[in-house]
Amino acid sequence: GTTQLSADLLIIGGGPGGYVAAIYAAKNGRTVTLVEKSQLGGTCLNVGCIPTKALVKSAEICHSVNNASVFGVEIDGNIRVNMKKVIDRKDQVKNKLVSGIDYLMNKNNINVISGQASFMDQHTVAVTGNESCIIKAKDIIIATGSKISKPPIPGMDLPFVRNSTTALSDTELPKSIAIIGGGVIGMEFAFLYRNLGVDVHVIEFMDRILTMVDHEISSEMQAIAEDAGIKIHTCSKVLKIQSSMNGTAVTSYEDKNGEHLLVSDKVLVAIGREPDLEGLSLELSGVLLNSRGRGIEVNSAMRTNIDHIYAIGDVTDKIQLAHVASHQGMVAVDNLLGKHTAMDYSAVPNVIFTTPEIASVGINEDEARAKGLNISIGRFSFEGNGKALTMNEPRGFIKLLKDNESQKIIGGSIIGPDASSLISTLTLAIANGFTEKQITETIFSHPTTSEVIHEAALDFGIGALHQ
Ligand code: FAD
Repeated sequence: GTTQLSADLLIIGGGPGGYVAAIYAAKNGRTVTLVEKSQLGGTCLNVGCIPTKALVKSAEICHSVNNASVFGVEIDGNIRVNMKKVIDRKDQVKNKLVSGIDYLMNKNNINVISGQASFMDQHTVAVTGNESCIIKAKDIIIATGSKISKPPIPGMDLPFVRNSTTALSDTELPKSIAIIGGGVIGMEFAFLYRNLGVDVHVIEFMDRILTMVDHEISSEMQAIAEDAGIKIHTCSKVLKIQSSMNGTAVTSYEDKNGEHLLVSDKVLVAIGREPDLEGLSLELSGVLLNSRGRGIEVNSAMRTNIDHIYAIGDVTDKIQLAHVASHQGMVAVDNLLGKHTAMDYSAVPNVIFTTPEIASVGINEDEARAKGLNISIGRFSFEGNGKALTMNEPRGFIKLLKDNESQKIIGGSIIGPDASSLISTLTLAIANGFTEKQITETIFSHPTTSEVIHEAALDFGIGALHQ
């Protein structure tokens, strides 16, 4: 017969939601069993955050080398990208991190079972795979993440069509690529390919790229992308993808001027991800979905409608970010331990790894205006920042938002060099309710890009010093 196990805490899914919850629960004295159907590390380590950033690093080196003469470094001869080596290096980074998670699971005595989990009832889960078994669990955390959405575009299965996962192992660099979707993943790939010398087109259905960021940041990014040679087609609906006589891709899209044909070597579809409930037999657990009918409904304690079942990460259909999944995991475990903590989304940092980077935290101007908040805006441009000039990256700016009633900083958006690191300082400020004065009275080291935060805070009052 099938092996029967009992578990104190069962976690389904080993991504940044599930594996972090597992470690945190183990450190807090729970006995943890974790089921993973594919690879520990989930989307983030295997086909998301980490592999894309490893490739972005290669692309940025290519970009720097191409611009080396600006810095007085002259390189004679051809610059060649060996895509196989680029991909191999990415795999090495990924594998090292995945085995690191394996080590952490062992170190924390977490029982990792390889296989696909599906509910039999509220407390029972069947695992099928290498280690088939039936597990009776006291408490359960669902952390099954998300999967790539398939748009109903004819031609999606043609051989030159890639998605964010298949593109990551493509050792052949195309001469040209059409990217469908100008969201975070689409724009990260757009710069990645462009920096490697590829001719890039982005086709976006909405009237602007990166609709989730502040409108000024989005239009600055569009201008920078276009100056870098990325062709952006907004208000454009993709109708179909076809193959030409000689095997290249032909993407048909429609805008207000009618139908257009775009010829390219490859097509990358980057239109979004959805909660992964495949094979989970969620209905047998009694857990309910959200009103959109696609993610698991949870309260601020990360608890579902069933008392002993929690859900965290992308499967909750809230914010698709690794650090949100991990934090939700810790909140869920705290509540399992009887500490009443609530998930707070008011200071979640969000980074886009384009060239330059974009980062934001808290509320942006558009959202604040829509809510009718009484706000002030403090600005500073990287042109006035010494460090940015030494880096030859003077483009971009920071926008800070202050609530005029409380004087607290409630949001910040940055486009420019080091944005991914600068956002942590702003996150600390916003998460802890810092006021304009607390920032202006802080000493920022010189010369660093972090000085733009100080200058933007000064801009609320007497004005920035270097602008
Ligand atoms: P996942 O990471 O998706 O993990 C879920 C795990 O559950 C998977 O390993 C899956 O195999 C397993 N599983 C599913 N169903 C079952 C089952 N029934 N039984 C057993 N196991 C199951 N986020 C960032 O914060 N920063 C970034 O820079 C970033 N870049 C990204 C780039 C790309 C190309 C993509 C696709 C995503 C990126 N993300 C990024 C998003 C990030 O990867 C996700 O938000 C994060 O992985 C969600 O974590 P999770 O634990 O909820 O789910």
